[in-house]
This record gives sequence, structure tokens and C-alpha cells, in this order.
Amino acid sequence: MNSSTPIKRIAIFGSTGSIGTQTLEVIASNPDLFSAEILTANNNDDLLIEQAIKFNPNIVVIGDEKKYIKVKEALAGTDVKVFSGDKALEEVAAMDCYDMMLAAIVGYAGLRPTLKAIDNGKAIALANKETLVVAGDIIMKKAVENRVPIIPVDSEHSAIFQCLVGETRNRIEKIILTASGGPFIGRKPNYLVNVKREHALQHPNWTMGAKITIDSATLMNKGLEMIEAKWLFNLKPEQVDVVIHPQSIIHSMVQFEDGSIKAQMGLPDMKLPIQYALAFPKRIANDFPRMDFKKVSTLSFEEPDVKTFRNLALAQLALNKAGNLPCIMNAANEIAVFAFLRNRINFLDMTDVIEKSMDAIPFIENPTLEEYFESDGEARNFAADLIKL
Ligand code: NDP
Repeated sequence: MNSSTPIKRIAIFGSTGSIGTQTLEVIASNPDLFSAEILTANNNDDLLIEQAIKFNPNIVVIGDEKKYIKVKEALAGTDVKVFSGDKALEEVAAMDCYDMMLAAIVGYAGLRPTLKAIDNGKAIALANKETLVVAGDIIMKKAVENRVPIIPVDSEHSAIFQCLVGETRNRIEKIILTASGGPFIGRKPNYLVNVKREHALQHPNWTMGAKITIDSATLMNKGLEMIEAKWLFNLKPEQVDVVIHPQSIIHSMVQFEDGSIKAQMGLPDMKLPIQYALAFPKRIANDFPRMDFKKVSTLSFEEPDVKTFRNLALAQLALNKAGNLPCIMNAANEIAVFAFLRNRINFLDMTDVIEKSMDAIPFIENPTLEEYFESDGEARNFAADLIKL
């Protein structure tokens, strides 16, 4: 980029998480291109304070209102404005002081601030896949109405987005999402029933937040990504395919109507899709480690085992049936993962909780936004009652 390119002001919603901290690394490496204008956290006040002192944003928001005084006092000698609470997240998302939201809050909690940002015409770099899983039709419609670009950060969707550059007139036959398979690839239910949270939190290729790491181990993450891809790229369910690729070198592929397949590859490093989303349509130089094909002896592929990893089958059902079913599935999954991380249920119980919730909550074919909110609440209550949380 040349010296006349204005600095892009970034609002990082979820700045203390895995994606948020890596986004700040990208910003720190490119101070002439990006500034951190808004930073938000839920509980992690110490890291938020540290980030605010280092990056001097305009605004910080701490979700937990009990932590407001501590953050305010710690930043008393600076110009940083401090807010707290869920409402503040939405109010700040509607402010004029930034250009692009990096949506990196985990789970359903990311939906409302992202909606506010879209309503106010902000470009979105989207890491928070749950937003599209819950209300993808409404989000994409609003994005079109407000002429808001939604640029994926998820590595698979960034790969597809990159493969599609220059292909606007060409029909996609299908997309192929790659999945590492997580730490339990090849395992069967008699093994999975005994796995502990510590084991499930060890992902072979990626270091990520706890929720997405468990979702990767159950293959729910790939299911969420199928639904995310449908909305992002305007696809029919049958155009979204999944293949297990344990090396995580091919980040995903697009097959065009002439049978030609484009793939995007690289070492697994989330800073690359983050940087791509922030700088799009430009690529910017960096010193991230490079892939050496002479050292990669194997790229292998296999069918996902949906009989063992039934979360992926449930997500395929939600993808096909649509309506409020993905929203119900997502809510039940958030409760199930929460319970598993607290050793309240075992690994396979998570699937049972999700399946029963999907059966129990009334199906709505064309929900309004309010109905999505209600379905989310009903599914959470139902799942929590099942687990006796
Ligand atoms: P983390 O758990 O590491 O971070 C989550 C962030 O959201 C933290 O800043 C956290 O604050 C904040 N947060 C959590 N709950 C709330 C809430 N209720 N209200 C407001 N803020 C909240 O998650 P990740 O960074 O791993 O993932 C973020 C999103 O990006 C997810 O949707 C995930 O699926 C997606 N994603 C992540 C990838 C990765 O490599 N990590 C890859 C692709 C997509 P605090 O720290 O204070 O708790």
C-alpha cells in the first residue's frame, strides 16, 4: 500500500481471545495501515488493561460490569474511554469512530454487536461463525441492504474467498471444506466416552479458544462452518462438501462447473487470514513462516466418520432443513460444550443434548430476528434442564 492509504481503524470485539490477540499482533506489525480503535473483553480485565496501555484505543468495553471500576482506574491517566455491560457492546458497535469490526467474540454473544455494526454500515471481518449459523439469512440480507462487505476470517472460508477472487462470473459446482479431524480422528465411541476435557483441548494443528477447540474435537466446528459457508457464498446445501485432511495445509477448495478445482494452501497460522481480511483487497508482506513443499511428504484426504462424530450429521440436518434449526443446534451446543468443559457431562453426551434439543424445540421455517432470539433462549433452557445445570 502506498503512503497515502488512510489508516484503517479496527474495532476488535473479543480482543482478549485467541483471534483478538492475533489481530493485535497483525496491527502491531502494520502501524502505518491499521489502528486498534475499540477493544472489548468479557472477563479478562488484566489483559484488556494491558492491551489498552499498549495500543491506546479510543474505547474499551469490559463485559462484566463488576470489573468496570478496576479498568477505569487502571486507565485513568490515559485518553481511553471505558464502558461496561452487554448494552455498551451494542452502543459502541454503532459508533462512528471505526471503519471495520473484527468480530471475534465467541458464540451467540457476538450476534447483536455484529448486527449493530452492519446496521451502521461498518465493514465486517467475521471470525464469529455462530453469528451466521444463528441468523445467516438476516445478517446477509442486512449486509446487502447496507452495502457492508463481510470478509471471512475463518481459515476455510478465507481460503474459499481467496479462491473466488476474479471468478465472479463463474458458477461454483461445489466447495470442499477441509477438516483436520481434531485429536480423536479414527477413534470410536467406546474410546470417546472416556475422553477428558484436557485431552479434547489438545488440538493437533491449531491453538484456539476452548469452545472452538472442543467443537473441532466433536466435528461440530465443521458443521457450523458448512452453515457459515452456505450463507457467505450463497450456496445450496448440496454444494457444501467436507473432507478430512489431517495436515491442515489445504485450507479449503472450490470446484467450478468445468471441474477445475482451486485450493488455497499454507501453514496453519490464523494471522494470515486475519491479515488478509483486514487488508483486502490488497495482500501485505509479512515474515510469517513459509511452507516448504519438499518437507511436506504427504497430503491425505478421507471421508468424515459421521456415524461416530454424529455432531456433523446433526449439523448437516440443520443445514438442509434450515429455518430456526441451526439456531437451536448452536444454542444447545454452546450449553453442551460449557457443561463438558466443567466435567458435568461426557464427550458423547454433548451430541445427545444437541439432538434432543433439536427434536424438542418447535421448528419455524422462516423466523424473524425476534424468533431467532426466542429459539436460542428456549434451546438453552431446554439443554440446561437436561443436563441439570
Ligand atoms: P476465545 O475464547 O479465545 O476468545 C473469545 C473472546 O470473546 C474473548 O475476548 C472473550 O473475552 C470474549 N467473550 C467471551 N464471551 C463473551 C460474552 N458473553 N460477551 C462478550 N465477549 C465475550 O475464542 P476464539 O478467539 O478462539 O474464537 C472467537 C471466534 O472466532 C469464535 O466464534 C470462533 O469460532 C471463531 N474462530 C476462531 C478461530 C481460532 O483460531 N481461535 C479460527 C476460526 C474461527 P474474555 O477473554 O474476557 O473472556
